[in-house]
Amino acid sequence: MTHNPDNCIFCKIIEGTIPCAKVYEDEQVLAFLDISQSTKGHTLVIPKVHKQDVFALTPDIAAHLFSVVPGIAKAIQMEYGATGFNLLNNSGEQAGQTVFHFHLHLLPRYSKNDGFK
Ligand code: 5GP
Ligand code: ZN
Repeated sequence: MTHNPDNCIFCKIIEGTIPCAKVYEDEQVLAFLDISQSTKGHTLVIPKVHKQDVFALTPDIAAHLFSVVPGIAKAIQMEYGATGFNLLNNSGEQAGQTVFHFHLHLLPRYSKNDGFK
């Protein structure tokens, strides 16, 4: 199903009309803390151009987005003392996607029982 990008909450965050706790920004990518922290430091990395899901990403957008992930992960590791990470994307309602602007979840892990399954 195609969702209307005019109502996209993440585009509003990029525009600055909805605030966020920014972790990283460049011309093409924004990373910010998830409003609902599954683990401490839970961060979302999004392309600034609206793409609904993994199927809509282009290789160029995906390549740049993933190129900044190691640096963001290391910064979160330093800040919060995470000892592991899960990288996760939900694409499609069937997969649990609730915001239809592609985002990569960076989930810092502290122990196997730190609240994320
Ligand atoms: P999804 O379920 O689509 O994989 O993940 C969407 C994520 O966006 C959820 O983890 C949810 O907490 C987060 N989220 C939804 N609305 C907002 C918001 O307004 N600000 C921030 N920072 N995160 C949001
Ligand atoms: Zn959007």
